[in-house]
Formats: sequence, C-alpha cells, structure tokens
Amino acid sequence: MPLVAANWKMNPNDAGDALDLVRGVLSVARGHADRVEVAIFPPFPWLLSISEVLAESGVKLGAQDCFWETSGAYTGEVSPAMLKGWCDWVIIGHSERRIVLGETDEMVAKKTVAALGCDMGVIMCVGDRIEQYEAGSSDQVVEAQVTAGLANCSADDSARLVIAYEPVWAIGTGKSADPEHAYRTMRLIRRVVGDLIGAGAAKKVRVLYGGSVNSSNVESFVELPLCDGVLVGGASLDAAEFAHIVKVTAEVYGHR
Ligand code: PEP
Repeated sequence: MPLVAANWKMNPNDAGDALDLVRGVLSVARGHADRVEVAIFPPFPWLLSISEVLAESGVKLGAQDCFWETSGAYTGEVSPAMLKGWCDWVIIGHSERRIVLGETDEMVAKKTVAALGCDMGVIMCVGDRIEQYEAGSSDQVVEAQVTAGLANCSADDSARLVIAYEPVWAIGTGKSADPEHAYRTMRLIRRVVGDLIGAGAAKKVRVLYGGSVNSSNVESFVELPLCDGVLVGGASLDAAEFAHIVKVTAEVYGHR
C-alpha cells in the first residue's frame, strides 16, 4: 500500500491549531484508509493529544526523530522505547537534522536499528545537496547514505522500513525534482537495498519521494512505477491541500 506522510516539522505553535489541522486531514484521509496509508508526524508536544484524535481512525502517528538509547543521561532526547506502542512511525535522518544539527550517517544507522528494535516503522531520509546534484554526484551521495544508514539492518526489517529520497535542493523550495530524476534515484535506492540485505527486501522496502510535493505535482511522482508514496512537508500544513494529495494518491494506486 502506498504511504503518504505528513512532516509538520516545527509547526504549528499552538495546540489548538494542531488539533484543527489533524481533524481536517482526518475528515478526508479516513475515507481512503483502505487504499493509502496516511501517517502524520507532528512535533513531540502534540503527539499525545493527536494520538487521541487519531485513535481507531486508521490514520497513523509518527515522531520526527528519536534517540538510539533506551533511557539514561541524554538531556533533551526521546527514546524509541518511549514512543513504542503509540507511535507507529519515526522519521530518521531528515536533511534538516543532518544539516542544521550535524546528524551523521552513523547516528542515522544507530537510530534506525533502535527504532526498528522497538517495533516501529522507520522512514529513513536520504538526499543530495545542490552542489552534489550539479556536480553529477547525486547517485554516489545517495548510495553512500543508504549503505551507511542500513549498516545494522537485515532483511527481517524490510517490511517496516521506508526510504525517502528527498533532494535537499527540493525541500521547502517550491522546486520539486524532475520525476525522471526521482525515478532513477528511487531505482538506485532499491538496487542498493537489494545488494545490502537481499532481493526480497528490495521488493518489500517502500521508497518515497519528498521535496516540494503539492496537490498539483503529486500525480507525477506517485504514478512512477517504483514510487510507493510521498513525504510531504509544507503542503501538509494545509488540511485541504494535504487531503488532495491523499486523494490523488488513492486514485493513482487504485488504477494500478
Ligand atoms: C520534508 O520536510 O520532508 C519536505 C519534503 O518538505 P517540503 O514538502 O516542504 O519540501
């Protein structure tokens, strides 16, 4: 089933606005729950109240990050063990964390295996920067990130593993990647997963595109043969816009 994930990033600031947004999304998303998996990733403080709104709806909840240890002296961190049981998903290695907070491939690998070990699904983000894209080294960058990020994973993890190709130059810029480029990179990701953890895993792992996806361009990505859905940032903060993205995805996959 395709996955449409809403990364709210550090928004909204108001608890009431967060509840309004999730209710707006839910009113449309629940009608497509049999054809599209929808997951919402709000900031940590809103997770609990949003989990109550989403209960029994079929729409999934996720965290935007987690730490790799279970508990201990790690001020400010949240462990996967704390999220386990009520968060279905966690995003790991988003480019904003890699670039703004200095998260390394090694940290991504440790977080990924820790979250999978707590029975959560992981969306591991990978992506090239503009200078790498312009230098023609996108493939090497993405291959290195996938290889390092999956260092501690096995084929058993593949059903709960999602890899999102998010070119840094497309995130929040309004300039999405050319679908042909996204397709080739998603094909590369699947090939790398196959080399690392086996052909069966390469088929099971879901691969998403993310980067300035909106209701006008979503179809050009979800219709790509190897695309299992989209990771949406800015457009997920508008309930009507996000609902449209879910609807288009449901229609496209319904015709496959
Ligand atoms: C993201 O934050 O993962 C993202 C893809 O953002 P945007 O859709 O705003 O480019």
